[in-house]
Amino acid sequence: MKKQMNIENITQQDKEENKTGTEIGLKADTKAGGVADKEEAKTHKRYMRQALTLAKKAAAKGDVPIGCVIVYDGRVIARGYNRRNADKTTLAHAEIMAIKKASKVIGDWRLEDCTMYVTLEPCQMCAGAIVQARIPKVVIGCMNPKAGCAGSIINLLDMKQFNHQVETTRGILEEECSALMKEFFAWLRESKKDSKIEGK
Ligand SMILES: [Zn+2]
Repeated sequence: MKKQMNIENITQQDKEENKTGTEIGLKADTKAGGVADKEEAKTHKRYMRQALTLAKKAAAKGDVPIGCVIVYDGRVIARGYNRRNADKTTLAHAEIMAIKKASKVIGDWRLEDCTMYVTLEPCQMCAGAIVQARIPKVVIGCMNPKAGCAGSIINLLDMKQFNHQVETTRGILEEECSALMKEFFAWLRESKKDSKIEGK
């Protein structure tokens, strides 16, 4: 019997809306702390929270917890979460799943008026797909120093050599997004230890 990941304390943390120092990235990306900025931050957090909920779905299935929503005209038109292990394909990243659904809804491969919210900095494949889909804006939860391609290793979202550049906002609900990842990998290490002990 496979051990279930305990994400209770994350969920708890998730409820404590105002307790986090998650505006670090936002502060770096926005100019003044005006009313419009505050409203924007609120909106970003609201959608990122939905992406986080999806990330937890991935974790519950034993996949790295990454979630994504795509917003068009003030509503979520597509959702995705990492299903790489569940579906046994490297193509099943959260962003790709969401892009597929959004394209279906919009009826076009171009997602020109959409904003993507994703809990973790996109990889090279997803950053490539974001550029290809002409998504104008991506909001990122936490960065991924070892594999991220939206500023960590390379910034594929903002290369003047390509015909499309993506505006990015980073650090929205950063602590929650990063805590969920840490929790997941701690759980993974523990369950590996357990299966060694059990001689599996
Ligand atoms: Zn990816």
